[in-house]
Amino acid sequence: MTQDGKGIVTIEGEKYFLSNVIEGEEVLVEMITRGRKRFVNLLEVKEANAFRVESPCEISANCGGCQLQHLSYAGQLHFKQSKVNALLSEYGEVSPIIGMENPTHYRNKVHSTFSLGFKSKIISGIFEEESHNVVSVKDCLIQDERANAIIETIRKLMPSFKMMPYDEDAEKGFLRHVLIRTGHVSGEVMVVLVVVSPMFPEKNHFVKALTEAHPEIKTIVQNVNPKKTSMVLGDKEVVLFGKGFIEDTLCDTVFRISSKSFYQVNPIQTEILYNKAIEMADLRDKEVVLDAYSGIGTISLIASRKANHVVGIELNNDAVRDAISNAKRNNIKNARFYNGDAGDFMRDVAKEGEHLDVVFMDPPRSGSDERFLNALVTLSPKKVVYISCNPLSLARDLKVLVAGGYKVEEIQPVDMFPGTWHVETVVKLQRRNP
Ligand code: SAH
Repeated sequence: MTQDGKGIVTIEGEKYFLSNVIEGEEVLVEMITRGRKRFVNLLEVKEANAFRVESPCEISANCGGCQLQHLSYAGQLHFKQSKVNALLSEYGEVSPIIGMENPTHYRNKVHSTFSLGFKSKIISGIFEEESHNVVSVKDCLIQDERANAIIETIRKLMPSFKMMPYDEDAEKGFLRHVLIRTGHVSGEVMVVLVVVSPMFPEKNHFVKALTEAHPEIKTIVQNVNPKKTSMVLGDKEVVLFGKGFIEDTLCDTVFRISSKSFYQVNPIQTEILYNKAIEMADLRDKEVVLDAYSGIGTISLIASRKANHVVGIELNNDAVRDAISNAKRNNIKNARFYNGDAGDFMRDVAKEGEHLDVVFMDPPRSGSDERFLNALVTLSPKKVVYISCNPLSLARDLKVLVAGGYKVEEIQPVDMFPGTWHVETVVKLQRRNP
């Protein structure tokens, strides 16, 4: 199987990648030739892998949101474990992946696109993979159930408000997307209505109807996106109801979530992941800690309670602003946040010969870069805790750190995204010669 959960089928020496096919299965496929291009479609599974189940989701074959619903949860974990083992076991033993107790309805951020379907019926769902067709999604298995219900209510309210979904080709209609964010601990819900124009006819009545049906909604934001773009959110926002943000608690720390802020999508597993990362750092109140790629300051603020002080570095200025306000909100005074490139920042810190005890790093999918890793090796903190959402770039970066004098002490995969091919891994590295 490929990294992203597709089966590899080899015919006459040529490799084809097929969704919904598991390693070791015997399958019947048809080959279609169009000009010089050849495609392969799955017709039948002749001999199934022991992990195969009938997908519990009706639309998983078209939707593209999940890639592994045709595997039992044990099978999904096995797939993820094997993937991490294959890439990382040369650095040390990989611990058994931490799965979810109940691997459904975990996503706290739900995005739904609105469109007109067959016989002009309003549908809401997600864009089909690599296309502009909206696949109707009603009871998504991985989304928060409250969000599913709110989207359903909006769809039912629309006709009585004569609110039409936006049609990009005809440039007609009003509602493009609905974004819902839910607080796992707080129970607060934010609804973002992404519409094409700032004029919102009957907005007060609409807000009233929606909040009466769902008292858990604490805030509603109108986001205006008039552009022809695949970006969901536009620049301009008007708060229609409530404060414009919600709050949630993660590892005893309160975080403010607004329409655009980055926040991990699986709060239950995030807490497990962060607790593991903090445990690996073994903080004893006296350390100087750097949190690189710090986002809205989650790891920094959680670590600050057990360290002397923490410095966060993050490229996105909005996230830095959120981090600073999150520090204030939690009355945390020993965390500072800087806006900039983590590699540049590390190089400056290295040049000034400053001392660091522990570095947390949580880079984007592409991983870290040479500048950052070289500066890290120069600074040589005692411990590095690397959190990664991509074992491929993690393996590449570990190679540099191991060559630079670090020993991998623990490798812990965590399943943050059941149903999908993604896997998160946290690694503890210790400097060899203290
Ligand atoms: N640690 C945070 C966020 C991790 S996501 C959390 O768990 O919530 C990765 C973050 O890296 C994003 O916020 C992204 O904006 C930031 N980023 C990407 N490239 C960067 C760079 N070159 N320097 C600093 N931050 C960067």
